[in-house]
Order: sequence, then structure tokens, then C-alpha cells
Amino acid sequence: MIQKKQLGGLDYFRIIAAFLVVAIHTSPLASFGMEADFIFTGVIARIAVPSFFMTTGYFLLPQYLFGHSMDRRPLVHSVEKHMLLYVTAIFLYLPVNLYAEQFKEVSIGSFFRMLFVDGTFYHLWYLPAAILGMVIVWLLGSYMPFGILTGMVFVLYMIGLFGDSYYGLTVQFPFLEKMYDMLFSVSSYTRNSLFYAPVFLVMGAEAYSRTNTLTGKKCKRIKHTKHIWNESNNFLIVYAAGFVVSLALMVAEGLVLRRFHLQRHDSMYVMLLPVMFFLFQLLLSIEKTPVKSLRSISTWIYIIHPFCIVLIRGAAKVLHLESLFVENSWIHYLTVCAASGVAGVIGNRVSVHFSAFGGEKQSFAKGRAWIELSRENLVKNVEMLQNCLSPGQQLMPAVKADAYGHGANLIAGELNQMGIQNFCVACVEEGVNLRKNGITGDILILGYTYPKDFPLLRKYRLTQTVVDYAYGRMLNGYGKKMKVHVKIDTGMHRLGERAERDKEICRIFQLKNLEIEGIYTHLCADETRNPEDMAFTKEQARLFHKVTEKVQKRGYFGLKTHLLASYGLINYPELGGDYVRVGIALYGLLSDRKTDMSAFFPVLSLRARITAVKEVFQGESVGYGFTYVAEEDRKIAVLAIGYADGLPRSLSGGNGRVLIHGKSAPVLGRICMDQTIVDVTDISGVKAGGIATIIGKDGNQEITAYELAENTGTITNEILSRMGGRLFRVMV
Ligand SMILES: *Cc1c(COP(=O)(O)O)cnc(C)c1O
Repeated sequence: MIQKKQLGGLDYFRIIAAFLVVAIHTSPLASFGMEADFIFTGVIARIAVPSFFMTTGYFLLPQYLFGHSMDRRPLVHSVEKHMLLYVTAIFLYLPVNLYAEQFKEVSIGSFFRMLFVDGTFYHLWYLPAAILGMVIVWLLGSYMPFGILTGMVFVLYMIGLFGDSYYGLTVQFPFLEKMYDMLFSVSSYTRNSLFYAPVFLVMGAEAYSRTNTLTGKKCKRIKHTKHIWNESNNFLIVYAAGFVVSLALMVAEGLVLRRFHLQRHDSMYVMLLPVMFFLFQLLLSIEKTPVKSLRSISTWIYIIHPFCIVLIRGAAKVLHLESLFVENSWIHYLTVCAASGVAGVIGNRVSVHFSAFGGEKQSFAKGRAWIELSRENLVKNVEMLQNCLSPGQQLMPAVKADAYGHGANLIAGELNQMGIQNFCVACVEEGVNLRKNGITGDILILGYTYPKDFPLLRKYRLTQTVVDYAYGRMLNGYGKKMKVHVKIDTGMHRLGERAERDKEICRIFQLKNLEIEGIYTHLCADETRNPEDMAFTKEQARLFHKVTEKVQKRGYFGLKTHLLASYGLINYPELGGDYVRVGIALYGLLSDRKTDMSAFFPVLSLRARITAVKEVFQGESVGYGFTYVAEEDRKIAVLAIGYADGLPRSLSGGNGRVLIHGKSAPVLGRICMDQTIVDVTDISGVKAGGIATIIGKDGNQEITAYELAENTGTITNEILSRMGGRLFRVMV
């Protein structure tokens, strides 16, 4: 069911990895023999850095490599974070650089090499490698399918190998040696953003796609593996065994390469790839609560430990303790670990402190009027709706009109997290907006798209509805392949080619540029099972099935069909289809109260800030146009919400109410564009800065969207979808 994996295993391993990196730079086993130290630091500890890359790949890249997200913000954010860290580290090590006179003979070329490839200090190569590596994989991934990308990064790694621990073979061929010499003039090692980082970034992303739902097609297979997963712990044992065996083989590989003096450097091994695969699977399957501070602490250990090495060596020299703290390699290592561990904790505190200063961007969020979305209720509604589906059927939530006023990005983002990969919207702008906010999966546009906007359909991988044959020809005339669903009009007489127009429907299917993935219709009398409604609905369904059968007879198979919306699923589940385009029910409501909806829960609450509380005296009026005149002294409250926010103006004067402190406060006079005045005479303790509830629960009272709809002569759909863009929306 819907539950997030606990990935704390990754966090704990980051600390281990950080101390392994410290080992690489301090040779802890040197006092026990060079061979032992090589096995530890030249082979085993080499799992540390790839694990960092894989974690980055796991969290950052799947949305781009599988989800076709157009939202660059996560990538930009990650790049910025790494850059900030790099700049900080550059300045931190500047004194050491200067003291060691490392900048003495720097040319422009070597300056750039230092900054963008090698790093300004011996361990800092990781940061430019991570930054450029992410960008390289993202760029490649947006131009080629995942399979080809994977092949490519493996080849790059192989090229890297022959400049690293297999270099001894390369120099047998003078031509190759020359090529690599050229390469080494640009980058001191092949362990960089091109030959080293990409393969691990991609492996991390791949690990994500194997354990999470990202595309509708994969959904079933993955559900299945998850199922097996819960059944047994066999996988854990397999991964642990795989890790141990491949690690042993990697040690053997390292020792052989060393024995024959083939290594130019010892970062890359063939066996490192399977080792990392098994290690990562193992870490993913350890169910531990994530600990965010460990991530930051491990990063700081990584950045700061060379500084600690310098300090400890310096201090030991001054105190004449070199024989203990430097020459005994094991004690030296432990001292550096302890010092950088402490520095890591301090570094974490400092960065938390600074981010606390920077994190105030959304302080105005609940300053005025806002919508609170209940994640819990949304999840319950989705589960309830999924229970109504027949086998093989999937939800295609309608998130048009800003998800019925709820906020399309928040809702669709949450649904994405639950593994839902099909959406429908009304128009191309809504589709583009979802893509720009990182929503993955298929997005069907139910309405008409103006031909000038056809390029957007392709750019943002949106699926267009063919609203009739004439429109199909226009789409086809654009001259490029288009993903479409064909709409059939079976009686609503809105969009869709008329069901009886066989010839036209057939011609739509012959249009060369249309990649037809689905066919659908819309029911218009499904709100009840009255004899009249039922007869009409059955006729619509019959016409639709007739069309789909004919289309199949002509050889078009594998089309997705859909005809049910919320009422359809509740009243006529037997009509089937591959998708169900649920809208209003997803949000926990139906259009009116006639159908029992006690199994569903409203997702939206609407609240507003109280901006002033004051008295009005007998005979005084309130608001525009004297529509309310106080018959006796009253206490009133002004709310920061008006009809521009979607509060219907027809709720003015006695027709509407809000809740404050769990009690009803009637609306006084006319609702204004940005403000509303309510009567709080009978409610004690109302103060400016307090909160009024317009839709939702307050104490044991509740105002539903039904109530607003009934008082204004409309349906909940209209009330909700008119919620203004000025409202702030939060998921709680
Ligand atoms: C809006 C819409 C839906 C969703 O309808 P609900 O009644 O809110 O479930 C489904 N299909 C089409 C064509 C729509 O326009």
C-alpha cells in the first residue's frame, strides 16, 4: 500500500563512507605493512565515493531519466548546493594552498584544470566531478533512451579504467598511450566527471526505478516485486552475499593489478560496479528512519578532514608527539577521525544555523487567506477509489482547473508519490504547468488546443484529445508525430466525433502523424440510476463499445479505453474501461449531497486571517451600500478574504457564515473583493490575527463545500474550481 520506504540505511553509511575517505588520505594500516594498507585504502575504501554519487543519482535523476520532468529546479538546486560547498571549501583551503606555495607556478590552463577538474585541494575533485557529472547525465539523458545512456556511461567507465588501475596495459600501445597523455594534460586522473561519476549516478537512478513506480507500464511488475519483498528476507541475504563475494573478487583484482604494477592510480576497478550494485541494494533494504543530520555531518567530515590532518601533524610536531600521533598510522587515523568527526558536528550546526536564517521565504504563507489540503484524506480517497476499480483498471485523476481549486501541483505531486502516472487536464497551459513543476507520467488534455500551441504538446510530452475528424486533420497537418486519444460523442453533444459517423472515425485512424493511444467518451446522465438516466447511460456505453469494436476489427489493438468519471465509477462501475477519469470524488465530494459520500473525506479547508475586530453601534451600517444596518450594538470581525479569492459574492447578507473558535459567525453586508465582514458578537475572545474557517472543520463544527454550493445555487465543483490564484496552498 502507500508507504514510503525508510532509507535511513543510506544516511548511516554516509558516515562510514566519510571515514573510509579519511582512511584513503591517512593510510591507517601503513604501520602493519604496505600490502594490508593497500587492501584497505587502495581497494576496499574505494566504495566510499561511488556511494555518494549513487545516492545523488537515486534522489535527483529518476525524475529526469524516467519521468521526463521539465522542472529543472531540483537539478539547479543540487548544483547550487554543491557549488556553495565547493566555494566554501576553496576559501577554507586557501591558506593551506598559499602556505604550501601551490599557486606559485600556475598558468591559466592549470588554473582552470584545478578549478573545474582536479579541485583546488587533493580531495576536492569530488565536487566539480559531482556537479559536472550530474549535468552531463541530465543532458545525455534528455536526448537518449535510458538503455543507451546506460551503455554509454559504462563505456566511459571502461575508458576511465584504462587510465586508472589498468593503465599498465594501455602503455603497451603507443597510440593509446598518446591519447591518454593528452587526456591527462586536461585532467590529472580519469576519476572525474566524465569517466567516473556518470556510471554511478546512473546506477543510483536505476536503483530507484527498480524499487519505485515511475511509469504506468512498470507499475504492475513493481507491485509484484514489492510483494515478494515483504514475503521474505531472502533478498537481503542475496545482496549481502553478493556484496561480500564481489568485494573479495575486487580485492583479488586489486592485488593482481598491483602485483603486475599495472596501476597508475587505484580508484577504479571492474569489480567496483557489482560491489556498488549489491552494496546499494543492501543499504536500500535496511529499513531505518532517515537522519538528515548524518548527511550534513558526513559531508563536513569529507570537506574538513585534510585540514584536521594538517592541524594534527602541526600540533604533534610542536608538542614533540610525532612518534605517537603521526608515526603510528592507526592512532594517527583515529585521531584524524575524531577531530574531523567533531568538526563535522560543528559544521552541521553552523549550516543549520545559516539555513534557519535563509529559510524564511514563505513567512507570508498563512498571512491572509489560504487553503489547507489534507494529505491523509487524499490518500484515503485514492485508496477508496482504487478499491472500486476492476482488475487492470487504473485511475486517471482529473487535475484540471488547478485540481478543482486545490492546487494542481501539490495534488498531482502527491499522487505521483503514490505511484499514479496518468492525469487529465482541460488545456495545454495546465499540462505545461504540471510538467514545469516536475509531474511525471502521461497527461491527457481533454480540451481543444489552438494550432499555434501544437509545439508545446510535443515539447512537454502531452497527449492531445482529437475532438473530431476536422481537428484530427489539423493535428495531422502539423507534420510531426503527436500522441493522442480520440474522443467519441455518444450523446452529450459537446466534444468528440459523433459515434455514428463511422467513416470519419475510420479516417482519424488513418492519419499518419497521430500516435493514437486511447479512445474515450464522456457520460452526461450518470448521476443517478433512475430508469431514464440509466437507459441513456447504457445507450452511451453501447455506442462507445460499438465504435471501439469496429476500430479493433480494422486492426487497431491495444488502445486504452475510458468513459467513467466520478459518478460513473460510483453508479456504473460495470461499464469498465482501462482508465477512470475521477475528479470531484478524489477531492472527497460529489457535486451535491444526494449520493452518500460518507466513505470519502474532503481534502480542502479554506481559512482566512482576522484582520480587525471592532464595535458598531445601533443604526450604523457595515460595508458597501447600507445593506446591513445594526439594530443594536454589535461586535464585528474583518476577514482577509473576498470574492476575488473565490468566496461567492452571493453569500453576502445573511446567506453565508464562517466559523471562529468553533462557532458560527454570519456574514454582514456585502462581501467585498478582498475582504469580508462577519458578526462575532456572540463569540468571546476574537482577536485580530486569529483564524476564521470558511470551508472545513473548526472544533466540532464544520462548513462543507456542499453548504456553500446550496446557499449559492450551484454545485461544489464550481465553488471549488473558482478558488482564486491569490490563495496560498499548503499540504498538511
Ligand atoms: C472534468 C472531467 C472529468 C472528471 O469529472 P468528475 O465528475 O469531477 O469526476 C472526467 N472527464 C471529462 C471529460 C471531464 O471534463
